[in-house]
Amino acid sequence: MHPKTTRFPEWIRQAWPSGAAHEEVKSLLGGLDLHTVCQSAQCPNQGECWGRRTATFMVLGNVCTRHCSFCGVRGGKPLPVDEAEPEKVAEAVARLGVRHTVITSVTRDDLPDGGAAHIARTIRAVKGRSPGVTIEALVQDFGGNPEFVGLVTAAAPEVFSHNIETVSRLHPAMRDRRFSYAGSLGVLRIARNQMDEGFVKSSFMLGCGESAEEVRGTLEDLLDTGCDAVAMGQYLRPGRVNGPVAEFVPPEKFAEYEALAYDLGFTFAVAGPLVRSSYRSEELLEKVRPRAGARKKTS
Ligand code: SF4
Repeated sequence: MHPKTTRFPEWIRQAWPSGAAHEEVKSLLGGLDLHTVCQSAQCPNQGECWGRRTATFMVLGNVCTRHCSFCGVRGGKPLPVDEAEPEKVAEAVARLGVRHTVITSVTRDDLPDGGAAHIARTIRAVKGRSPGVTIEALVQDFGGNPEFVGLVTAAAPEVFSHNIETVSRLHPAMRDRRFSYAGSLGVLRIARNQMDEGFVKSSFMLGCGESAEEVRGTLEDLLDTGCDAVAMGQYLRPGRVNGPVAEFVPPEKFAEYEALAYDLGFTFAVAGPLVRSSYRSEELLEKVRPRAGARKKTS
């Protein structure tokens, strides 16, 4: 890891969340006792996204059983699963009136299926209540278990998303040791092979000390799994207990990486300092649907 970087460049601007739409989303989510990754991970785009009445729902509670050094979500002993949560998320999506939503979760190593069936129930509840709404399921690794991944893909989200998080070399420092870079590639490969329709997406952070060659290598590894879409954003330290930022990557470098991803063969790529895995998630479907052909399967 590079030495700690403290200077905050002007291209990372975090608008303070405010406005009527933001208040409306906040009170709707609070009233239904729902969690969002927007709040739990202290996402810098909350002002913009909530202003557009979009949010990323975080099911299975807001306490994670893993301890990744980059993440702002609280770790510890999770609460019991709220069995009514799928219907509450469906209610919130219907009331927000959105056409697309992202559903994610904390990692629940304490549950027999990692929470896969609950996530699948949530996807089905949203689709049942709001036909036509498209969904990105941004899921954990489920220990690489194909059966648990299959519970999610069988619920037919339009996008199956699992984050590789960082380049291979930095995984041991950045991510909880209970899962690996190779394991995440395996999850993406499993999902690609299980899905006849829909896209497989992954995201990773820049500014953690990776080299340009390592970024390229990660993109190639993702493509090799059959992954269709990639998002790259700047790592921002969520709190004092988290690992330091090694570098603030300039916007033009992000533009180069985005172009590289397309050159290498991704169907959709987005890269920028404030890009997060769920940021402008709906663009993937809007941009690629008209030209998407049969999905590739890998062995
Ligand atoms: S980018 Fe995702 S997590 Fe961040 S505020 Fe927007 S929807 Fe929420």
